[in-house]
Amino acid sequence: MHDESRQSVATKNHAVVIAGGGPTGLMLAAELALARVDVAIVERRKSQALESTRAGGLHARTIEVLDQRGVADRFLSQGKVMQVAGFAMIRPLEISDFPIRHNYGLALTQNHIERILAEWVEELGVPFYRGREVTSFTQDENGVDVELSDGSSLRSKYLVGCDGGRSLIRKKAGIDFPGWEPSISYLIAECSMTEEPAAGVRHGEKGINAMGKMEDGTRVRLVLIEQDIKLGDKPTVAELRDALVAVYGTDFGVHDVMYLSRFTDAARQAASYRDRRVLLAGDAAHVHGPMGGQGLNLGVQDAVNLGWKLAQVVRGTAPQTLLDTYQTERHPIGARVLKITMAQAALMRGDDRTKALHEKMSELLKMDEPRKQYAAMMSALDIHYDFGEGHPLLGRAMPDLDLATESGPRRVFSLLHDARPALLNLGAPGALDIAPWADRVRRVDARYTGGWALPVLGAVPAPIAVLIRPDGHVAWVGDGTDKGLREALTTWFGPPQ
Ligand SMILES: Cc1cc2nc3c(=O)[nH]c(=O)nc-3n(C[C@H](O)[C@H](O)[C@H](O)COP(=O)(O)OP(=O)(O)OC[C@H]3O[C@@H](n4cnc5c(N)ncnc54)[C@H](O)[C@@H]3O)c2cc1C
Repeated sequence: MHDESRQSVATKNHAVVIAGGGPTGLMLAAELALARVDVAIVERRKSQALESTRAGGLHARTIEVLDQRGVADRFLSQGKVMQVAGFAMIRPLEISDFPIRHNYGLALTQNHIERILAEWVEELGVPFYRGREVTSFTQDENGVDVELSDGSSLRSKYLVGCDGGRSLIRKKAGIDFPGWEPSISYLIAECSMTEEPAAGVRHGEKGINAMGKMEDGTRVRLVLIEQDIKLGDKPTVAELRDALVAVYGTDFGVHDVMYLSRFTDAARQAASYRDRRVLLAGDAAHVHGPMGGQGLNLGVQDAVNLGWKLAQVVRGTAPQTLLDTYQTERHPIGARVLKITMAQAALMRGDDRTKALHEKMSELLKMDEPRKQYAAMMSALDIHYDFGEGHPLLGRAMPDLDLATESGPRRVFSLLHDARPALLNLGAPGALDIAPWADRVRRVDARYTGGWALPVLGAVPAPIAVLIRPDGHVAWVGDGTDKGLREALTTWFGPPQ
């Protein structure tokens, strides 16, 4: 393990420093390391272990982005593949009929997800400064001085705040965090009980309480609505007992409380994801309720959008303005997730009128088209960045097709394993000349005889060539000519050499 903790307190240089080694910071570090950028993580926790299990799994698009890097199997082998998409507990919203390889989600808790990500990041040789915090930073025209809690400092070209919802980086950068105050607070606990727990879901006036046995079959994990909205993440065991009595009429003899915290449905989003050389990703950029299991997935996908752009800017092959597209592409997606979670929280209230609305919504989501639209939205399979008019693939995620190449069969995702862009030419071999970008863009001549289809949209016309960004989104579609190809290459991968 590359733990820099015991090294001298002299200033060290890195091209990029990431504050926070949760799921977002780990994914971003992997992306930058694959692009051969000198990146380091500063993480407050001494080890990757989490106090609780937190998030419950991965949605299909997150599995796809991990597959694009060749590491999806590490996660799939340790979790349970299943239909996980739901909306306001209306589930499952099946994606098994979607024309994609991973037409499912994965039940795997965040402690395991983080462990696997951290192992991968260590294999990639990323240094960790563990057991210390970023306490401050100052930026100038050329870089950022980052102060750590042990008195040492780092110098980097860019600093990325992946330091969670209470992000110090966001606050010190003076980035506004507007949004909605909480309308409800929940206690979350992992504990033991002398009485048999009331496993399952119990509806209350304000929403849903849930209780169930943990993996070991004895301990209990529960989420409980508090009667009044409370803030602060350090509730007391007395508050837990009171909340249990208020909902169930008994505290079930709760004891040995191993984990106790609080969360709310507050929804906030950073007004900007960037202030010059400081960027935000994951919970540092957006917070919202956990309904629909979006947060971790959103953060990992932010990282995959930002990583290759930042790598090119750091290397000087693309201008800083490329980083503006991180904001234009990801800010609307974050804003959408805030609305998705707020709508779910409202729909889960237990009064008769809301229950009637929930019932009607359930009927709607049993219909095929609404089910497909909502399943794709909750799984992030419908993301369409606006690259202008054109073929339906433009701006959407490239499907993982089975190709025939000169060197044998290949999957499209395997072309992206090293986080480099690829020009996939399905027309006459050698037809497209991208010599001035040959050091940056892989050109692959291949044959594909199957159909083309996308989630929700269904069948789309077969293109002759596609330019695929490292995050898997299609940046250009060819119709047999190279019209627009040079412009697309310049926009995304910098001017010709
Ligand atoms: C009860 C619950 C259930 C959830 N369920 C789901 C789910 O099913 N699906 C889903 O997708 N999401 C879920 N989430 C949300 C998910 O846990 C978060 O969105 C996710 O952890 C965000 O990842 P992150 O890396 O952006 O931030 P974090 O996980 O918060 O990581 C931030 C890291 O930064 C470190 N740090 C903080 N400040 C500093 C500093 N100054 N210097 C150095 N290090 C610092 C922290 O120690 C931490 O490791 C759930 C959350 C909760 C509370």
